[in-house]
Amino acid sequence: MAAATPSSPAHLPAATSERLAQNRLLATLGPAERELLLPGAEVVELAAGTVLVDSGDDVLSTYFPISGMVAALVVVMADGSVAEAATIGREGAIGGVVSAGHKPAFARAIVQLPGSCLRIETARLEAGKARSPRLHDLFARYADALLAQVLQSVVCNVLHPLDQRCCRWLLSTMDRADSVELEITQEFLAQMLGVQRTTMTRTLGDLDRRGLIRQARGRIIIRSREGLEASSCECHASVYRHFRRILPEVAAQG
Ligand SMILES: [Zn+2]
Repeated sequence: MAAATPSSPAHLPAATSERLAQNRLLATLGPAERELLLPGAEVVELAAGTVLVDSGDDVLSTYFPISGMVAALVVVMADGSVAEAATIGREGAIGGVVSAGHKPAFARAIVQLPGSCLRIETARLEAGKARSPRLHDLFARYADALLAQVLQSVVCNVLHPLDQRCCRWLLSTMDRADSVELEITQEFLAQMLGVQRTTMTRTLGDLDRRGLIRQARGRIIIRSREGLEASSCECHASVYRHFRRILPEVAAQG
């Protein structure tokens, strides 16, 4: 086993501490806060489509993406249809942020792109926040940044056309995936954006013809980030600008 790094408390596995630092939110923590969270933390591999927490469930575990894993918070309607309200990757956490843990989740959290997560018991996270003002402050600011993303999505869905929303979604996901190649089907993207599959096919075909993306079997490959930025609504940049102001030390990790 590798020796403990200087920032890793001696009795904690160095490998786990290193994985923790791959999450941009957790990477900003000092040794004292890491020691509050790390015991019992485990690395889990998650497949696309995995439901991390469902609407109405107690939020017993909090997940911190540590690779290109990307999750979505989706709201489930009575007829079973869903639409996305927020996207979360290495800059954040799923669960244990807004509620205090043993409260039911409102949204369903689902894995969009597969990868690794550090799983920490929400009760441990809450106990850590109670003991460390720095930890409490970090998660309070993250909750604000997440709320900003949700608020922007509400307005975006009402005011902006599908092609712009689609470009926003692709930018937001590629930033978190750290890749220009996204393992996403048209059907899944249609579900996330709350549109019919045929409508999604037309919109993606148009972006393909304009040279912004290339579609492959079960994948979308980004060909021009600049083109997507120019064709997106203002919402991706606006949410990131707020994130940078609220959590500058986390944004700097990127
Ligand atoms: Zn928008």
